[in-house]
Amino acid sequence: MLQLYLTNERQNLKHDAHYYRYHDPQTRHHNMAYFLDRCDAYIQRGTIGQYTAILANISGFTNLNFLIGSSNCDTVLIRLLDWLQEGLEKDEVVSRVSGDEFALLIHRSHEGMILEKLRVSDVRYGKHPGDLAHVSAEAGIFRLSDAVESYHHIVQAVSSALNVAKSSLQLQFSYYDPIAADAGERRKFYENAFERALINEDIRIFFQPKVSLKDYSLIGAEALSRWMMNGKIVPPDAFIPILEETTRICELDFYVLEHVCRSIRSWLRQGIKPVKVSVNFSRRHLSNTNLVNDIVDVIDRFFVPHHYIEVELTETTIDADFAALKRIVYGLREQGIESSVDDFGMGYSSLSLIRDVPFKVLKIDKSFLGDKKGGPNERKRAMMKHVISMANELGMECIAEGVESMEHVQLLKENKCYMAQGFLFNRPVPKEEFEQILTQAG
Ligand code: C2E
Ligand code: MG
Ligand code: MG
Repeated sequence: MLQLYLTNERQNLKHDAHYYRYHDPQTRHHNMAYFLDRCDAYIQRGTIGQYTAILANISGFTNLNFLIGSSNCDTVLIRLLDWLQEGLEKDEVVSRVSGDEFALLIHRSHEGMILEKLRVSDVRYGKHPGDLAHVSAEAGIFRLSDAVESYHHIVQAVSSALNVAKSSLQLQFSYYDPIAADAGERRKFYENAFERALINEDIRIFFQPKVSLKDYSLIGAEALSRWMMNGKIVPPDAFIPILEETTRICELDFYVLEHVCRSIRSWLRQGIKPVKVSVNFSRRHLSNTNLVNDIVDVIDRFFVPHHYIEVELTETTIDADFAALKRIVYGLREQGIESSVDDFGMGYSSLSLIRDVPFKVLKIDKSFLGDKKGGPNERKRAMMKHVISMANELGMECIAEGVESMEHVQLLKENKCYMAQGFLFNRPVPKEEFEQILTQAG
């Protein structure tokens, strides 16, 4: 009997400990520890991307305390939490954080229902007909993605979104948007999410065709990164500069090269004739003394003929980088891999760069073309003309980026530049779409 009693008692204690660890004694609802625990569990399970996290705060709760008294306020809080819980499933979470703040982890499909309840609700706290509190809550909302790696990330995101809602006069709800978040936060977000994005292949490779201005045929493509997040495309401008502050950009560039090689290999296997694809390599690679071998290793691993790959590098003004650039471009050329100077004319273009480094292709930056209609001003026009003729004389090929109109095409032809890349022909497109373009061209 005693043994049975002790076992029961121990189980009760265990149950109590578990209960108090995960419940708020005042409202008997779950607490923040439970919210964090569930976030972690769903991250581990790989299902976190199906949820939305919400941090909400009841508006004017202090005033309500004065108006109806603290004990009635406690009732309001409990009833509101009960009501929020109604209609939710077992894996979803409603927890009280502290005071008038609570956190929810709900299925994306329940977002509308919950926000409707938070918008404004009449909560009964007593028996008299007038015992009704008009309650609404401000909320920070974060639609989670599989890229989320820890609950810190979630807490930081919903807190910052809630702060936006609180400080806005018009907004009751604010969605966390890593693109709109302030710089420091954005950096943290993308850095945290990057590794997972590579593993999950959330970063997709888009291809932008390059065309001949002589017969408008397809002559190549540039591979450009697109980060898919919550069904939206994050453009490279949002994350490349952040990755470029560290050497993580190098991982991205090799990831892109690998995907490009894999695609070319699969086209060859299917009998689709590939074109040369260029891959952007950041300046950050210049300190890698083994870069040429690393690039060749990837290309060879996929048995891709070297001439199908082009490496795009940007200009440099730093002497040490200049020497490295020269070594790399020579090394690549020996391996039958061509290099191009990207965004020529953007930085402090030095003539010695194209004189001393055997680039095959010069990519004229889109700023040289001016806007769609007006075209470039006289200075730019004159510079472009000379850059093209110099490149031609040095035996380099010239391609113009950002070609958006027939006026641009006209101008390029007049200046003897016969290769172009731009929205007039194609935007960067997903692999499947590019495959169709290749098939039609072939
Ligand atoms: P970029 O290498 O100069 O790529 C060309 C950019 O011009 C692309 O921007 C492309 O979408 C854009 N563009 C093409 N045609 C037109 C046009 O007619 N008009 C205008 N206004 N723009 C046009 P995107 O894809 O946003 O990429 C921006 C930059 O991000 C790239 O400039 C490149 O420097 C960098 N980037 C993209 N993917 C990678 C990557 O995988 N690795 C590295 N290191 N950098 C990358
Ligand atoms: Mg480029
Ligand atoms: Mg460029």
